[in-house]
Amino acid sequence: MAEHNIVSMSGGKDSTATLLFARELEVPNLSAVFADTGHEHPATYDYVHYLADATGIDIRWVKADFARQIAGKRKFIETKWREKGVPEAVVLAALGVLHPTGNPFLDMCLWKGRFPSTKARFCTDELKRNPIIEDVFLPLMTGENLVLSWQGVRADESLSRRYLPECDEVGGGLFNYRPILKWPVDAVFEAHRAAGIKPNPLYLQGCNRVGCMPCIMCAKDELRQIATRWPEEVSRVREWERLVSIASKRGAATFFATVTDPTVRSDDKVSAETHGIDRMVDWANTSRGGRQFDMINLIARTDSQNSCSSAYGLCE
Ligand code: SF4
Repeated sequence: MAEHNIVSMSGGKDSTATLLFARELEVPNLSAVFADTGHEHPATYDYVHYLADATGIDIRWVKADFARQIAGKRKFIETKWREKGVPEAVVLAALGVLHPTGNPFLDMCLWKGRFPSTKARFCTDELKRNPIIEDVFLPLMTGENLVLSWQGVRADESLSRRYLPECDEVGGGLFNYRPILKWPVDAVFEAHRAAGIKPNPLYLQGCNRVGCMPCIMCAKDELRQIATRWPEEVSRVREWERLVSIASKRGAATFFATVTDPTVRSDDKVSAETHGIDRMVDWANTSRGGRQFDMINLIARTDSQNSCSSAYGLCE
């Protein structure tokens, strides 16, 4: 039985430390996988290339493809929306934007007609977990391989990670392995130093997490940093809100959810123009709170010092 050791990379400090630890142990058939969401900062893409060069470890890139789902949505709109009396102009506009762009995050949202949210966080599974399992793990699960999925998660990051086992069996010869579960954050950066590997430069530029830019669970100060340093990322999301709104039957889709925002009343007309990312950036630049906004901040800070509490360590 052949042993395969595969590290899931996010481009952040924890998955990098895990990769370095695995290399130090000289485990057999060591490789890594990085799921490109299409929504990362360019520095993270550069960093993943740098890591492959600097460590000599093959990092395979995978990318979710939603062409099939978008084709299905087009058929649904052509038939069901029309049957339900959706105005023809709305139908035609939706069909006009519903084409695969090749950007996984945008295509996922066009297909669903909405952005993910804290309550419907389908992004990690759709953009990261599923393509990694389908493209990398499943082909190895033949019964003739022992496959260790190395995951860079730490117990002190979030409640959902605190009680994870260090190792568990998925089935079919696949095991999850979380070797840095009990590591403090200092040990993570020490692993970089000891190996002569630079951390992702975004940590030196005000980011306390590395991942989607921004994450749907982004904290207030992170959003302010992003808007100040990289306004082009905000512009990209603004354009995505416009496109996804057109693909949505109700004609509105905002990157940050408004459904639990007490400042938005049920009879308010929500649109990307009035409640989109620009509104949140304006708020991020104020000292104002507001219950919902404080709650978003609180979730991001207490459940995870970072933003996503995925137990798989796919999002930092
Ligand atoms: S980083 Fe945030 S937005 Fe990106 S996949 Fe993870 S939870 Fe979703």
